[in-house]
Amino acid sequence: MDKAKITMKTELITIDFTKPLAGQLTLPAEILAGGGLVAFPTETVYGLGGNALDADAAGKIYAAKGRPSDNPLIVHIARPSDAEKYAYTNALYEKLAKAFMPGPLTVVLPKRENVPCSVTGGLMTVGIRCPGDPVARELIRLAGVPIAAPSANVSGRPSPTAASHVADDLNGRIDCIIDGGEAEVGLESTIVKIDGERLILLRPGAITPEMLRAVCEEVVLDNGILDRLPEGKAPEAPGMKYRHYAPRARVHLLRAKDENDDTFDEKAIAFFREKLAQDPSVGILCYDEHLPFLQGAHVYSYGEKADDRAHSHLLFDCLRRFDETDAAAIYAVVGKTEGIGLALYNRMLKASAYTVIYI
Ligand code: AMP
Ligand code: MG
Repeated sequence: MDKAKITMKTELITIDFTKPLAGQLTLPAEILAGGGLVAFPTETVYGLGGNALDADAAGKIYAAKGRPSDNPLIVHIARPSDAEKYAYTNALYEKLAKAFMPGPLTVVLPKRENVPCSVTGGLMTVGIRCPGDPVARELIRLAGVPIAAPSANVSGRPSPTAASHVADDLNGRIDCIIDGGEAEVGLESTIVKIDGERLILLRPGAITPEMLRAVCEEVVLDNGILDRLPEGKAPEAPGMKYRHYAPRARVHLLRAKDENDDTFDEKAIAFFREKLAQDPSVGILCYDEHLPFLQGAHVYSYGEKADDRAHSHLLFDCLRRFDETDAAAIYAVVGKTEGIGLALYNRMLKASAYTVIYI
């Protein structure tokens, strides 16, 4: 990106969770209300916030991230009932709100006039989310305006799950960064679009298809989640057409041909060992159980095999760590696509540009 744009002093505020939040968030709330940009923690990933009713603030978000302007921003609200002010809600929205909000779910609804088209990438719909993170919610409440916030990374880099990731990407480009510790989930929100009586899952996340089906009988997975879109087809969620979550090195996913294969771990270890023997500097993303058998400069684990919450929490941090190395290739183990595993697999497919090795 253009180095000449790095001119701003970025204020860093570290939250002290033993003290009341309001006093610590006065300055960033004023910055937001005044049209400036603030990066803040949420339970999914860090967001880069600006006033969602201010087209100029939206313009600043796109510029700071280097994000294509047809890629819509999610509008964050302090209370689920605030959705009605910016979108046309319905009974299914109410059900989703009751079950999952505040929380890691974005609902796409027809937008009202007051939301500028520059915020929605030109669409007549708007993605609405009420985050569960207390810092995020108090900040939105104090700002007194809805907050448009994409992930607080430079476009094309892995989403930030810690304030240090945000600083690496955006220091000098935005007014303020709030450090509220590591993002709990570590993957971006689940996005659903309400389509009559059914839900179209546009992006999987911590609110899983299984959980959504408990509220709505018909949940349809968008084609872009597990497959590359055919040439020339416009995606339902415009962000899907960009190569997201891409580390510098080429990523290859290692997946079981048969999900019930008991010997998969042995095969994966043997595969990793062979790659490390050929080039000790390759990146390996494996499970804790594999670590004792692998030696190399860039061998990282993203948790115990059975702990899919740990995998989602650590994935983007691991991808960023690989970016700081000289590894030319990364081999990453992936597990089952149930529960949050679907979201993990979706992000990893994108990071790998759909390069999957079945063993
Ligand atoms: P990010 O905030 O960086 O996680 O990206 C937000 C993503 O939400 C976009 O890339 C879109 O794919 C999706 N999104 C936001 N608003 C809409 C909308 N109105 N319709 C469909 N998808 C949306
Ligand atoms: Mg993003």
